Amino acid sequence: MNRKLVSTGLFSLLMLFVFSLKAQKEEIDAIIDKAEAVSHFKFLAADELMGRDPARAEIDLAALYIANQFEKYGAKPLEEMGSFYQKVPLRYSNPPVVGTIYWNNDTLQHGEELLVLAGDDVQGDFEAVVVGYGLEEDYENVNVDGKWVVARVGAPNRLSPPELFAAGREKMVLARSKGALGLIEMYNVPTTPWTLLVNYLNKPQMGLDTDPDAEKSIPYLWMKDLTGERIQAIRDESSHINVDIRGKINRKISGKNVVAYIEGTDETLRDEFLMLSAHYDHVGIGAPNAAGDSIYNGARDNAVGTAALIQAAQYFGIHPPKRSILLCAWTAEEKGLLGSSYFADHPPVELSDIVYNLNIDNAGYNDTTLVTVIGLGRSTADRHLQEAAKTFGLEAIADPAPEQGLYDRSDNVNFAKKGIPAPTFSLGFTAFDAEIAKHYHQASDQIDNFDLDYALKYWKSYILSAELIANDPDKPLWKKGDKYEDAGKNLYGSDYPE
Ligand SMILES: [Zn+2]
Repeated sequence: MNRKLVSTGLFSLLMLFVFSLKAQKEEIDAIIDKAEAVSHFKFLAADELMGRDPARAEIDLAALYIANQFEKYGAKPLEEMGSFYQKVPLRYSNPPVVGTIYWNNDTLQHGEELLVLAGDDVQGDFEAVVVGYGLEEDYENVNVDGKWVVARVGAPNRLSPPELFAAGREKMVLARSKGALGLIEMYNVPTTPWTLLVNYLNKPQMGLDTDPDAEKSIPYLWMKDLTGERIQAIRDESSHINVDIRGKINRKISGKNVVAYIEGTDETLRDEFLMLSAHYDHVGIGAPNAAGDSIYNGARDNAVGTAALIQAAQYFGIHPPKRSILLCAWTAEEKGLLGSSYFADHPPVELSDIVYNLNIDNAGYNDTTLVTVIGLGRSTADRHLQEAAKTFGLEAIADPAPEQGLYDRSDNVNFAKKGIPAPTFSLGFTAFDAEIAKHYHQASDQIDNFDLDYALKYWKSYILSAELIANDPDKPLWKKGDKYEDAGKNLYGSDYPE
């Protein structure tokens, strides 16, 4: 073919492309109105929501607001769910006010040489029985009915922290089934220092309530015993304990993911979803700052992202793309990515029908000429994000602080692990520096110090990115050699070249 013809052809293709981007920009500009967009942002970051803590009631106002906006803009609840809410079973626990064991002329206190990990309040005198590791075989010829069981922590070859907790849960169920009234594990693992455990465990905790035996738990404690002297003394000298545990909180909470969809226009592609997601929770109330402010509004983290999701509903409600759009607002990200984790394990649609997850989450920003995409460079959809940002006068850059491990610290990772390409679309930052730390998880993360003109460009770039990906006939794939590429092959099979 003639060289000139080729370049003319390329030129007109390019012009067509530029023209259609320009048209898409105009449509987004026409629909996304600054005052309306900012009103969503303001509501979500308002003091009245008390920092959107999943352990507090006010977070339900945020969930209700998001669901109402989705509905208002024409998004629908998934038939499989029957409502905009996916209930997420959560469990919240708080350390006891008093946690003391009097034993052998010694007084052991919670938070010092004792940790009360589970169970209800209890007071009284009890007989303690040592049963090895507290496994089934250790109970042979031992009667623990009406007594407290004392065992070594973990099990042979099960001594990493997650293994210790898993073994503890099993032992608790077993001890209870044998008629025991409580379980104390004697902690002697040198690889995980006791003080580290106390710092980590002696504070409010939230987790997914997936343990069917949690209701039946007996008091479960760890006692520091690095040398093994105490377990020896309980066996040989004094098996009498007096226990006083008061004020421990164990509460079930029904968390909510807010989920909606907008059907795509293409006969075939509409069976596939582009998942747009943002966590809407934040860290709640905390220590007051110098200005006396104790409400952690989480404007950057992540009211701004949740507002983007609402605007995506608004835009795609009017201009549905070829693929269907799945809108997901996650709860309890700040408690360990819990809402998204629950969804990934209990998906109301087939995960293999979700071709891509464009997550949006933030710590903060220090450069208003950028969007920073955590995970840029890892999938074949990158160019859409770059073009979308450029169309609104921004530049998309990749993660500048890989040492922070941000990709694996937000909700996107729960889907990447399943094989779905899942970057996080963040406000522009060039380093995780003092400017970011100034507001990150601080009471000062609020709207009055946020550049709202920049917010608008960021939101629009997100919507255009989503539109380009949802309309691209090519399915986004992990780049070759990515750590999640194999998961992608498992999920999508033949979409990946041999
Ligand atoms: Zn956060």
